[in-house]
Amino acid sequence: MSFIKKSPWIIHYDGTSCNGCDIETLACLTPLYDVERLGVVNTGNPKHADILLVTGSVNEQSAPVLWQIYNQMANPKVVVAIGICALSGGVFKECYNVKGGVDTVLPVDVYVPGCAARPEAIIDGVAKACEILQQKLDHEREKKRTRKAVKNNG
Ligand code: SF4
Repeated sequence: MSFIKKSPWIIHYDGTSCNGCDIETLACLTPLYDVERLGVVNTGNPKHADILLVTGSVNEQSAPVLWQIYNQMANPKVVVAIGICALSGGVFKECYNVKGGVDTVLPVDVYVPGCAARPEAIIDGVAKACEILQQKLDHEREKKRTRKAVKNNG
């Protein structure tokens, strides 16, 4: 985790999962797996979050909620889809009201497979998300620096 210069805050949204992936994600926060040892803090406020963890498939009702949470998060941000349902719709794929995976609504940066996704895989996904977040932060900083240089040079 030396690649990340700040402690990223995460927010978790459970779309329409069977709760399997949801429980495994919450297990990551317990002392057994303790994702906070990586400097990650769990928050309930999208405006404070850098990383969005999503479990379950997306349906007509959860899609606007997910979109609203995503839009409330500051840029840059990273989205992690957890479990087969979040990746593609999984076992709920053929349901009449299911749109599919999270990427039918949001740009997904990290895909964590599994049914249910194991806590080790979720932690691995969070570590990858931290790496991507740092890349995005560096890119933003570079863009600002270039814009400033262009402005100063007339
Ligand atoms: S991937 Fe499996 S465990 Fe996770 S929400 Fe879907 S059915 Fe449940």
